[in-house]
Amino acid sequence: MSANDSIASNNPEHGASNAVAKKLIITVRVNEYMSRDINRNVPFTPDEIAETAAECRAAGASIIHFHARKPDGGKCHEPEVYAEIVAKIREKCDILIDSTLGQITVNEDENRLAHIKLMGQKSSTRPDFAAVDTGSSNIDAYDPVQKKFLTTNKIYKNSTETCLFLAKGMTDAGVKPHLSVWAVPFVRMVDAFLDMGAIKEPAYVQCVLAEGGIVGAHPCTTRGLEALIDFLPPQRLIEWTVACKEGNLFNVASTALDRNGHLAPGIGDYPYPELGCPTNAELVRRFAELGRAVGREPTTTDEARVLLGIGK
Ligand code: ZN
Repeated sequence: MSANDSIASNNPEHGASNAVAKKLIITVRVNEYMSRDINRNVPFTPDEIAETAAECRAAGASIIHFHARKPDGGKCHEPEVYAEIVAKIREKCDILIDSTLGQITVNEDENRLAHIKLMGQKSSTRPDFAAVDTGSSNIDAYDPVQKKFLTTNKIYKNSTETCLFLAKGMTDAGVKPHLSVWAVPFVRMVDAFLDMGAIKEPAYVQCVLAEGGIVGAHPCTTRGLEALIDFLPPQRLIEWTVACKEGNLFNVASTALDRNGHLAPGIGDYPYPELGCPTNAELVRRFAELGRAVGREPTTTDEARVLLGIGK
């Protein structure tokens, strides 16, 4: 894969006319903090997450994004549990691993990165990626039936200082930042981070769309996605993917495939009741079929490594 092919990913002029279609990186977002109330297939324990990883790899995913959970589904921030999950996934398959940060509010920046530092000490527990959200947003959900917000003070706060701290800490630990963008200003921040060398090219950008009353991100529509990708700096090497919180990613999948983007589905984001509440692997299989139908064969993990510029 040459640099020019990667540049083409940001430029719609180059999309459909490429002689060889770019392969498709499927990232599966297996659990987030989703409950099992609607879809009982959400994995919680390290063994369940590792089993899901292997099933999704076989179905066509080359990256797994996960959150550590307690056996009852509660949030888990223990660095040792994160390390256990990575080790168990690595025993089962070769899927690339994208960890979340700790959602911790005491000594915030240090503690959000503590598990990444611990995991980075050994190759058997080191994830390949971890998330940096390049801006802040109000993430309260609005309920149009009750005509009120369900909460009114949930701020997903990521100061510039925090982003730079996280990016440096991850890079030092041998973990590549994946850059989540919720709105156009987040995309502009990515450009600034690349310009100052805080992030290395090729950048791995994840467009985060949101439904379910979360108005702090773009909607899961063609225009919502295109507003983000139209602002990706065309002179930079960027591979981008798209996820949708609380909504059906199929709504923008064709647009992403047409525009040389990648896909990040998962029942952690949305339980897909209209598809009978599938497993993560069943969902991945559907998106892989969609990619193949337009000539975008899912990548192997080695092919994803090349596109995203990470070593073994
Ligand atoms: Zn996550």
